[in-house]
Amino acid sequence: MEAFDYLIVGAGFAGSILAERLARGSGKRVLLVDRRAHVGGNAYDHYDDAGILVHKYGPHIFHTNSQEVFDYLSRFTPWRQYQHRVLACVDGQLVPIPINLDTINQLYGLNLTSLEMDSFLAARAEKREVIRTSEDVVVSKVGRELYEKFFRGYTRKQWGLDPSELDAQVTARVPTRTNRDARYFTDTFQAMPSRGFTRMFQNMLDHPNISVLLNTDYREIKNLVPHRELIYTGPIDEYFDFEFGKLPYRCLEFKHETHNREFLQPVAVINYPNDYAFTRVTEFKHLTGQEHPKTSIVYEFSRAEGDPYYPIPRAENSELYRKYQALADATEGVHFVGRLATYRYYNMDQVAAQALTVFAQMAGLSRAEAIELEYEPKLTAVTFPLNGNGSHAVPLRKRRRAVATAS
Ligand code: FAD
Ligand code: UDP
Repeated sequence: MEAFDYLIVGAGFAGSILAERLARGSGKRVLLVDRRAHVGGNAYDHYDDAGILVHKYGPHIFHTNSQEVFDYLSRFTPWRQYQHRVLACVDGQLVPIPINLDTINQLYGLNLTSLEMDSFLAARAEKREVIRTSEDVVVSKVGRELYEKFFRGYTRKQWGLDPSELDAQVTARVPTRTNRDARYFTDTFQAMPSRGFTRMFQNMLDHPNISVLLNTDYREIKNLVPHRELIYTGPIDEYFDFEFGKLPYRCLEFKHETHNREFLQPVAVINYPNDYAFTRVTEFKHLTGQEHPKTSIVYEFSRAEGDPYYPIPRAENSELYRKYQALADATEGVHFVGRLATYRYYNMDQVAAQALTVFAQMAGLSRAEAIELEYEPKLTAVTFPLNGNGSHAVPLRKRRRAVATAS
């Protein structure tokens, strides 16, 4: 069996970026293993039976404020500019979410200006000394009625918990605006890979030093494949055989459908905070810009059991995670990276930034330098002891890998 410098578990953003940098940046030999049948992790997309590009694990929209992350990923894909818009189905109407001026005017049949909306919200907002929970975030901005219409039901469905039981960061992802900006995100860069995420990952991993092994749990092969270090991007509690008990992750079930008409929804995503068992419905052609006489959608149902998708941000879980993190810190030769392994509710760009930072630390370089690093094989003179007959055991000049990373 071949020897590898790194065995990387998980071919999502974290694992694939590290594979790419270690191979193309530092000339390391990498084996990338995933138990799924494909690369890309949760961002995987593919053409369904009707020939429509869909995201197998729910809608993935790329957005970032990081020029560095955007430039790095742009090496592997051209982009389609896309501004994400979401509507919420509330009181039988489809209104913009994040809540903005149009949301309030439409919902209450008003004709407020931005200034008037400020006063409208101020009259309803509940004072909070400290913003601790996901309930605090919303009621302190928009009051209880709007909180109940837009956030309480959705959050209970999505997390199986009341917003008062979740850290502020969860609902703080969704802002409130008094202008008419209907974009879901306001990041500097918002775009979709023109030919899909999977194609971007394939380009990233197309390197002679990277071997990819799919449909394989790393535990089946870790003792068979010689490697110097391990990079692990799966759930951290699983790595340690649940030593301190299960770390809660929220699971999802996806129901994909294709319909025999060009479009079903006015926008890519419709949220259903109060009706139905699913949380949201996504129509992919809005995201991808694909033209097709049919259309494909996905319903998301949140579940307590199944494959882990979301870390659940709340104090008791962070405490349990810290115990695993201490174990991870004490485990030599293993790096824990990504959304499941560092138990962080991270977007794709945050995972990309984290992976690039980890690589920079391994290489002993700044992140900017680490991103630019290109491995160039060097011809190096190597001296070896003479054999008894006076000849050299191996040729004097040998093509050797330059050691660009700290090893
Ligand atoms: P993952 O993509 O989860 O990859 C981990 C991989 O490790 C998996 O493929 C898994 O199969 C593999 N693995 C685990 N254990 C083992 C093992 N024992 N052996 C072998 N392989 C193993 N982010 C955005 O920026 N924008 C969005 O619009 C967005 N939408 C999202 C929608 C949903 C429904 C979800 C769930 C997430 C969304 N995200 C979004 C977040 C995004 O998916 C993540 O930030 C990113 O994909 C995480 O990458 P990762 O490499 O850390 O983990
Ligand atoms: N949320 C909500 N109502 C909405 C949209 C979001 O209550 O219409 C809350 C909910 O708790 C959700 C969180 O805000 O889980 C973050 O929303 P986001 O759209 O960022 O979720 P993701 O895309 O990560 O699933």
